[in-house]
Amino acid sequence: MYSNSLIELDRAHLVHPVASYRGHEKQGVRVLASASGATVTDASGKQLVDGFAGLWCVNAGYGHESIVEAATRQLRELPYATAYFGLGSEPAIRLAAELAERAPGDLNHVYFTLGGSDAVDSTIRFVRYYWIARGQPQRDQFISIEQGYHGSSTVGAGLTALPAFHAGFGVPFDWQHKIPSHYAYRNPVGEDPQAIIAASVAALRAKVEALGPDRVAAFYAEPIQGSGGVLVPPKGWMKAMREVCRELDILFIADEVITGFGRTGPLFACTEDEIVPDFMTTAKGLTSGYVPMGAVFMSDRVYDVIADAAGASAVGHGYTYSAHPVSAAVGLEVLRLYENGLLENGVKAGARLMAGLEALRDHPLVGDVRGRGMLAAVELVVDKQKKTPLPAAAEPARRIFDRAWDNGLVIRAFANGILGYAPPLCCTDADIDAIIERTRRTLDQTL
Ligand code: PLP
Repeated sequence: MYSNSLIELDRAHLVHPVASYRGHEKQGVRVLASASGATVTDASGKQLVDGFAGLWCVNAGYGHESIVEAATRQLRELPYATAYFGLGSEPAIRLAAELAERAPGDLNHVYFTLGGSDAVDSTIRFVRYYWIARGQPQRDQFISIEQGYHGSSTVGAGLTALPAFHAGFGVPFDWQHKIPSHYAYRNPVGEDPQAIIAASVAALRAKVEALGPDRVAAFYAEPIQGSGGVLVPPKGWMKAMREVCRELDILFIADEVITGFGRTGPLFACTEDEIVPDFMTTAKGLTSGYVPMGAVFMSDRVYDVIADAAGASAVGHGYTYSAHPVSAAVGLEVLRLYENGLLENGVKAGARLMAGLEALRDHPLVGDVRGRGMLAAVELVVDKQKKTPLPAAAEPARRIFDRAWDNGLVIRAFANGILGYAPPLCCTDADIDAIIERTRRTLDQTL
C-alpha cells in the first residue's frame, strides 16, 4: 500500500475540492503516481484504465512527450509574460488566433483564464458590462438549468444547480434562476424529443415573462449537462434555445468546459449543434489538463459593444496569469494533436464505447445508457419498469467507485447511481473493451 506518512500528511494538510472533509479524513487519500496513454498507476503500482480522463480533461491522454517538450521549451525561453500594459507573448497571441479561426461563427475574441470557473465568472462580468453599455443596466437576472454545472466561483456557483454548491456559503443567489432540465430519462413530459424541446422553450419563455422581459441578461446552457449526470439533450434542443434567446434579446452562453475540444466528436459541440452563441466558455481539453487554462470566446457583436463603451478606459477585468505563455504553448501543441489524428481516434473510440455501454442494457441494474462521442453515462436503477433509483444509503456512490477501482477502472460514480464516462480520446480498442468489461464486473458485484 501507500506510504502511511503520505496519507497522514494529506489528512493533516491538504484540503480537497468538493469533498466531505471529515469523510475524507476517515477514508484517506488514494495517491496517483504516474500515467501513460489511458492508464494511470497508483502509488502501490496498481494500474487502472482512466475512464474519466482525470476530471473530464486529459483528452489527449497521459505522457505525450511533444506536450512536455512544448512546455519545457516555453519554460526555458519565457516562463512568464503579463498580458497587462499592452504586453503579450507569441504563444498566447497565436493560440487566440488559432482558436478564433476554428470557433463557430464570429466568436473571434478570446479571453484566457485559469480554468472553467473563472471563465464562467468572467462571462458574468462581461454580460453585465455589455448590458450597462447598451443602456439597460436593469438586465441583471441570469437563467440556467436544473442539474447544470458552471463551476464554483463566488457568483458563478449560483448558476450551478447542485445544492452542495450553495448550502452553507451564505451568498445570495436571488438573481440567478433555473428552468427544468431536458433530462430525457426522467422528464415529466416523457422521452419524445420534440415534446422535451417544446417544454424547455416554454419554460424559458415563462421564466423570462415572470422575471420581466427587460430584466433578463443571459441564459447559460451546457451542450451536454456533465456534472448533472451526463444529460444529453435531443438533437435541435440547443438550436431552439438559442433562437428563443435571440428573439427575446437575451445573451446565450454555451458552457463548453467539458464538451469542448473533441469530447463529443468535433472541436466544439456548438458546431454539431449548428449554433453560434454570444459567449462560449472552455477549459479542460484546451490544455488537456497538463497545465491550467481556460478560454472565454466572445462574438464580434459583444466585443464591440464592450470595447466601444470603455473607449480609452480600461475594462477592469484580468488576472496575473491571464494568457500565460506556458499554458498557451501547451494549448498550441494539444491543438496540433487534436488535428493530427486525436479527434478522429476519439470519434472511433466513442462509437466503440457507446456500443459497449449499450450492450450493458441487458444488466438488471442498468436503466438508461446515454452519451455522445467520448462522453457517456449509465444510470442504475433497482426497478427498470418504475425507474427506481438505487437507494443512496444502501449503495453509496463511493462503494461503486471503490469496486470499480479494485477492478482496475476509474469512473465517476455520481451520488444518484449514475456512472459517468469521459475517457481520453487516445483510447485504444483494448482500453475501451477493458472499460466495458470492468464496468460489467463492477455491476455484477453490486447486485
Ligand atoms: N463549467 C462546466 C460545464 C464544468 O463542467 C466545469 C467543471 O467541471 C466548470 C464550468 C468549472 O471548471 P473548473 O473546474 O475548471 O473551474
